[in-house]
Amino acid sequence: MDEIAADPSHPRYASLLMRHRMEVGAAKGMLADSALIAHGRGEAFDYLLGEKTHAWAERAMRHALGCLIRAKSPVLSVNGNVAALAADEMIRLAHHLNCSLEVNIFYRTPERMKAIIGHLEERCEHLGLSVPILGQAPNGRIPGLEGPRAACTVEGILNSDVILVPLEDGDRCEALVNMGKTVIVVDLNPLSRSAQMGSITIVNEVVRTLTLMCAWLDEDLLSLSEPTFENHRSLREATETIRSGFD
Ligand code: ATP
Repeated sequence: MDEIAADPSHPRYASLLMRHRMEVGAAKGMLADSALIAHGRGEAFDYLLGEKTHAWAERAMRHALGCLIRAKSPVLSVNGNVAALAADEMIRLAHHLNCSLEVNIFYRTPERMKAIIGHLEERCEHLGLSVPILGQAPNGRIPGLEGPRAACTVEGILNSDVILVPLEDGDRCEALVNMGKTVIVVDLNPLSRSAQMGSITIVNEVVRTLTLMCAWLDEDLLSLSEPTFENHRSLREATETIRSGFD
């Protein structure tokens, strides 16, 4: 899946690898037309952040993982970009948390749903992990949203108490927060509506975030708690880092 022409010693190898995953995702029919634009916006913010995981982002990640571990009904939401970039990490996280993945896309078409679910099933088989994949047959609606983007499942998103929504649209994020859920957002842009609306916002690249979270999974749960975490402070630290530059 990750066979690309670029040499791993190339200074922009990680970025080229992510672009390659997006190209593969597009070829498989998993992505909306605007997906590459969204990816490019993320790349620009990542450049401004020095393409690294900052200490304030790590605190948000630890707090988020602690909430997911302690949740009664956690669920991990997957859209096209997340499936293309981080299917393996999302599957590993869901497996460890013993929860479902729910495919939930903004521009919903039967073809894209089929392509994303097919890709996730393929990666589950490759990893030898079995994780429920919801979303194919929605039987619920997110209150406050119109049209197909409100579609979800009762057993997944609707009944969840803690939901991870990497790269979510601002509107849907707001609607999920209004339902009383703890909404964990991963978004490189601390000014986006999703980042501002989320209960816990991780301003970091999605693959770096999920890779590190997977590596922490076996740690002592107490070490994951961040009792003094405040989302608005974390967002302020992210914008200050962008304004003032980084080491
Ligand atoms: P909002 O509705 O929240 O204001 P938006 O319209 O700015 O969002 P979209 O185009 O819906 O954003 O989604 C792209 C968002 O995802 C951007 O904020 C971008 O910074 C972020 N993003 C893109 N790629 C990544 C990535 N690999 N990791 C983390 N964030 C990313």
